[in-house]
Amino acid sequence: MAASPFRLDGRVAMVTGANTGIGQAIALGLAEAGARLVLVGRSGMDETRAKLAQLGADAHEIRADLSSTAPLAGVVAEAIEWGGALDILVNNAGIIRRADALDFTEADWDAVIDTNLKSAFFLSQAAGRHMVARGSGKIINIASLLSFQGGVRIASYTASKSGLAGLTRLLACEWAARGINVNAIAPGYFVTNNTEALRADEDRSSAILARIPAGHWGDPADLAGAAVFLASDAARYIHGIVLPVDGGWLAR
Ligand code: NAP
Repeated sequence: MAASPFRLDGRVAMVTGANTGIGQAIALGLAEAGARLVLVGRSGMDETRAKLAQLGADAHEIRADLSSTAPLAGVVAEAIEWGGALDILVNNAGIIRRADALDFTEADWDAVIDTNLKSAFFLSQAAGRHMVARGSGKIINIASLLSFQGGVRIASYTASKSGLAGLTRLLACEWAARGINVNAIAPGYFVTNNTEALRADEDRSSAILARIPAGHWGDPADLAGAAVFLASDAARYIHGIVLPVDGGWLAR
């Protein structure tokens, strides 16, 4: 029987922010599809590593603070040294800061843009140099509904995620003919640390829930299938899309 185009057996996949939430769920999904995992982040990855071990998956942890570009080239070099190659990059690490636009500080602007947008670009560049040289690779950016919508009280987050959608399209245009697929996933409202403040605000939380056609917040595991698909040969002619996984939010 022919191998399934959805399998990732032996591929080396790097996921940033893989210690928790969406990054952890995507790492587990890629591992279930057969990938070997490079887990990148500023916090310990013990929980993710334990879950990967239960799946019998191969994993390597790299500690790096992605709020600056300083570690990025070294992260990619270490991943390639460990894995022999880098086939898949998932730019997932991200932060959010909340304040009215009238009061938004430069510090909250820079922190979010540096982590969510600048580091995602320069990590893609470092990975892209390797992938373009090999003529193959997959890059998946974790965007947001704020890649499509304005939101409120999250100016730098909306700018970063709208920027990430644009970069996804730009990199796809530059690298599609070089054998690289660059795409993004736009998660709707998921139960993670990122949305803790939102879920704690009863008014905002029930207003959000009332608008989700699926009738419930997302479970990070619900994102894994989209990531596996975009990382696989099954998506080889898909370039520059931002795929919503949002319980129908944008359809409303
Ligand atoms: P999360 O639980 O807060 O996870 C964010 C991840 O990014 C954590 O692993 C975090 O590490 C890492 N990170 C943040 N700053 C970092 C830095 N300077 N260096 C290295 N790692 C850093 O939230 P999440 O919801 O899973 O978020 C994952 C991605 O999904 C983010 O890009 C977020 O914007 C996006 N997203 C989430 C939702 C949602 O509803 N949850 C919706 C749309 C998009 P630490 O644990 O060490 O902080």
